[in-house]
Amino acid sequence: MRTFGLFLLFLTIGFGQTVEEQYRERSRKIIAAAIKDEDGMKRLAYLCDRIGHRLSGSEAFTRAVAWSAAQMIEGGLENVSTPKVKIPHWVRGKEMAEIVSPVRVPLTMLGLGMTGGGDVTAEVVGVRSFEELDKLGRAGVAGKIVLFHPPWVSYGVTGAFRRSGPSRAAKLGAAAVLIRSAGVPAANSAHTGVTNFEPGVPVIPAAALSEESLGTLERLVASGERVVVHYKSEAKTLPDADGANVIGELRGSEKPDEVVVISGHLDSWDAGQGAHDDASGCIGPLQALILLKQLGLRPKRTIRVVFWANEENGTRGGLAYRDQFKDQLKDHVIAIEMDGGAERPVGLGVTGGGEKALAQMREIGKLLQPIGAGLVTPGGGGTDIGPIMREGVIGSGVRTVGKRYMEWHHTAADTLDKIDPVEFKKNIAQLAVFAYVLADMEARLGQ
Ligand SMILES: [Zn+2]
Repeated sequence: MRTFGLFLLFLTIGFGQTVEEQYRERSRKIIAAAIKDEDGMKRLAYLCDRIGHRLSGSEAFTRAVAWSAAQMIEGGLENVSTPKVKIPHWVRGKEMAEIVSPVRVPLTMLGLGMTGGGDVTAEVVGVRSFEELDKLGRAGVAGKIVLFHPPWVSYGVTGAFRRSGPSRAAKLGAAAVLIRSAGVPAANSAHTGVTNFEPGVPVIPAAALSEESLGTLERLVASGERVVVHYKSEAKTLPDADGANVIGELRGSEKPDEVVVISGHLDSWDAGQGAHDDASGCIGPLQALILLKQLGLRPKRTIRVVFWANEENGTRGGLAYRDQFKDQLKDHVIAIEMDGGAERPVGLGVTGGGEKALAQMREIGKLLQPIGAGLVTPGGGGTDIGPIMREGVIGSGVRTVGKRYMEWHHTAADTLDKIDPVEFKKNIAQLAVFAYVLADMEARLGQ
């Protein structure tokens, strides 16, 4: 009797089987279903073409919330909810900039998020670093339009001029700011994005230029002749608007209180369609969960899909989620965010959980070798999952080949035609396999 009991026990836990062996058949099924799936692309197309870009506070964002919740219900997800969150409401309005002297040339520009409006005609002073700005000081900057034209290095390095350049110039009395776009130059596109004004500093107009317009302007400034630009913007920040996160689940069969989060942000900039950034990061996780449901693969733990509100200019959705679930964060196994576009996925970056979690993730990654999407590397996460990662939740971000993402990022060119359906399906497969195994495997991640 005793021997028989032990035998049964060995049978049930798959004695001697690795996670890879245990889930090989099921992961093959999941990958095959994802590669065959057409509904994910249909949903992505609807969000991009029929709802369009979705800036926080816009009417389109409100419609996107309602549509997303309806998609989750239609897909058979459980506990679908739209917990409310107040979000910033910045409005671009009309904007234009042109060189008026020594020649008249329109500039291809895109105002930065959270800037102010104004009608400025002033001399341009160019700087390539914050040191050069500080050296000019108030005497050299006040009343002028500051042009930040550092060399393009990376989003992290060059992006600093977008994030804090306008505030630093405004502090010295600048009337407006123009910057080199924080993105890889491509076909006369200007890249918008958020900028942050220090409290008490005037909120002045500030815009990014296309590489072509920047080149024209910097060559004229370098000639030593006085260069004057006319820059007009209606940008303004209204009182906070009503927004919401969108949440749906596949409840776990044995440990429903333990949760694996897969997520992306529903808001976008008001240029293009926010197709890569981050419609793909919402529909990818959603379709992954719908496929698991359709395959009848209900894991032991709960998988929760979250569409975050307001990643681009406030992270209010991520902060509200942290507060809403503060007593349940200890039961969050991992939070995965897809916010790097839907090019060919190569794997996941992981933060937290130590060597143990990294080894477990790498074991799961082996299941994705058939599509080359299983590389697990230390370090990674996402803006929206940042608040719960800081509370100790293991965080992870999807990594792709990232070949052209930074050409399209925050530009009018981030549209559905830039999404390769085959690569998008691989993203769905990757998310579905990782989420399913993490939610179903015997050991909890990191333990
Ligand atoms: Zn994004």
